[in-house]
Amino acid sequence: MKLKDEADYYLKPMTCPHFMMLYKTRPRSYRDLPIRWTSTTTNYRYEKSGELTGLARVRSLTQDDCHVFLLSDQIEPEVNLMLDMIEEVYEKFGFHDFWVRVSTHDPTQKKNYIGDPAIWKNSEEILSRLIEKRGWKHEIGIGEAAFYGPKLDFIFKDVLGREWQLSTIQLDMNLPERFDLEFIDSNGTKKRPVVLHRAILGSTERFLGILIEHFAGEFPFWLAPIQVAILAINDRVLPYCREIAEELKKHGVRITIDPRNESIGKKIRESELQKIPYLFVIGDKEAEAKNISVREHKKGNLGNMATASFLALIKNTHSTARPLDK
Ligand code: ZN
Repeated sequence: MKLKDEADYYLKPMTCPHFMMLYKTRPRSYRDLPIRWTSTTTNYRYEKSGELTGLARVRSLTQDDCHVFLLSDQIEPEVNLMLDMIEEVYEKFGFHDFWVRVSTHDPTQKKNYIGDPAIWKNSEEILSRLIEKRGWKHEIGIGEAAFYGPKLDFIFKDVLGREWQLSTIQLDMNLPERFDLEFIDSNGTKKRPVVLHRAILGSTERFLGILIEHFAGEFPFWLAPIQVAILAINDRVLPYCREIAEELKKHGVRITIDPRNESIGKKIRESELQKIPYLFVIGDKEAEAKNISVREHKKGNLGNMATASFLALIKNTHSTARPLDK
């Protein structure tokens, strides 16, 4: 597309080539490797209008993309590090049921694959071994590798039993060749690096859609967009409500005040429908005693307490909560 300044702009369908060019901007030594570049940026794909679906299939998607340039003997520790990250992230989001597809080349069709056969053999062994070592469910897909390298795909099951392919780790011997990427080895010779592409969430839009359905909107405390709603019983207590909100915001709590002139019953019902983890009901009694009446989503009334006690409560109850100030 052309903009006013006459420069050419392009819609970027993926980030891979960008990082290959970045690598080439200067000479690289074996000492520089591995180089890890991560970007969470928007890519554009022309999906037909009939194929667009909610957040799952969109025309502009944000990918958590990482490219690692490495020596072939760094493949094992690097992939292992990525497996740690994937495990940690999905554990936090509450996806415990998953399996891994290990896609390897078909040894009877050697001519279909490019790259060093020794790297193929070695990296396929590494991928299978690392997955087996962790005791993760997996399948070996012989002949399912791309022509440029083997890969790992992570297939997660949501609460509805649907499977989603989310994380992926892909070895690439093609792009380093196509972009003529080099590094200087310890003995001064030029060599090709290997590239690993990896995404943990994949498309963040699609992941968000999956997450909303996985939790049926009932996010864990640390993830809830609004963690606490303060429901004022009357206008007189609004200054006190603001005081509490300020105090909790200082501790990183996402909080909102419902000042409307509605019955408290209605306010509670509406906040419950929004699945807000905690509600504070504030009336004259609370404002006078400088405490809060706390309701927990699905559990009901927790009684009156000081805001400090509430902060201690969420700190102790929600282990994956964003660390409150130490
Ligand atoms: Zn890539």
